Amino acid sequence: MSGKTPITVAHGDGIGPEIMESTLQILTAAGAEIAPHRIDIGESVYKSGFTSGIKPEAWNTLRETGVFLKAPITTPQGGGYKSLNVSVRKTLGLFANVRPCKALHPYVNTRHPNIDLVIIRENEEDLYAGIEYRQTGEAYECLKVISRPGSERIVRYAFEYARAYGKKEVTCMVKDNIMKMTDGLFHSVFQEIGAEYPDIQKKSQIIDIGSALLADRPENYEVVVTLNLYGDIISDIVAQIAGSVGLFGSANVGMNAAMFEAIHGSAPDIAGKGIANPSGLLNAAVMMLVHIGQPKIAAKIRNGWLATLEDGIHTDDIYKEGLSKQKVGTADFTKAVIEHLGRTP
Ligand code: ATP
Ligand code: MG
Repeated sequence: MSGKTPITVAHGDGIGPEIMESTLQILTAAGAEIAPHRIDIGESVYKSGFTSGIKPEAWNTLRETGVFLKAPITTPQGGGYKSLNVSVRKTLGLFANVRPCKALHPYVNTRHPNIDLVIIRENEEDLYAGIEYRQTGEAYECLKVISRPGSERIVRYAFEYARAYGKKEVTCMVKDNIMKMTDGLFHSVFQEIGAEYPDIQKKSQIIDIGSALLADRPENYEVVVTLNLYGDIISDIVAQIAGSVGLFGSANVGMNAAMFEAIHGSAPDIAGKGIANPSGLLNAAVMMLVHIGQPKIAAKIRNGWLATLEDGIHTDDIYKEGLSKQKVGTADFTKAVIEHLGRTP
């Protein structure tokens, strides 16, 4: 077992088990040096009485491995259940949500062939701090919490990311013309810390026009850093206009742990049909391999996956007459990626 990095995996709900199976098969075939420890999370755990969707013993596995590859889960409808994602982010201190989006033109259809950007979203504060009150019978309040240390950490992360990946600009998006104290703090931290990175161009946009421009001309952006709620919204917009929500992965990064997941949900409408696109979770796993120091295997998987798409072997969600050559289910797509390992697009 020496040399294998222990990781935690969770198969999740809906299409989760299908895409996790596919991803683990590809990781194994590519020679990833990992030792997966499986935990149960999600619907069945929620329903057994754990309102966070995860059992206490699973936390130990997560803390010990510090690396979590997570399939999507279904949060049961109704009150009383807490978001597992929010619990994991806060408990493990995963302060940065990193979502790279690159169009796969000409292999996958998109109206924005030159998208190549990363959204870096603050992941612990803002309206997600979970501080809500009932003021009166008819009024509720949700507190927006923005701290200097929290803002400094995410802004620095964004600039370091830009430097590490050879990006030339970072755009800050907030609404500091209205929320002068909270968003204002984040923006001034952006300017202060940005001054330490003279090699990187700094841009600032108010979130409303910023997201409109992002949706219209996404090719004008390289790195966007923003608050939790704004980041949630704009990262879905960008993924959707870049192709399909089935394509992209994301990383939730902290000082001592990191969680990797597909950006989409558990897709109950297609669960069990064998047609889900495993690419989102696979790309999350590629980010995980880079994180644990296996960049060569990560590149081998990414290239094999791109070569598969280039050959027109497409799952239903990205299938397009005239562009795609073969419509395949999850199992055949997985097989094709494995056969394409070692090839470059
Ligand atoms: P959640 O609340 O869990 O985020 P959601 O309502 O946002 O869920 P998703 O589960 O992300 O919804 O699915 C949105 C749509 O995209 C659905 O029609 C689903 O079938 C489709 N979809 C999501 N992921 C995939 C995938 N990996 N392959 C194919 N289609 C997908
Ligand atoms: Mg969703």
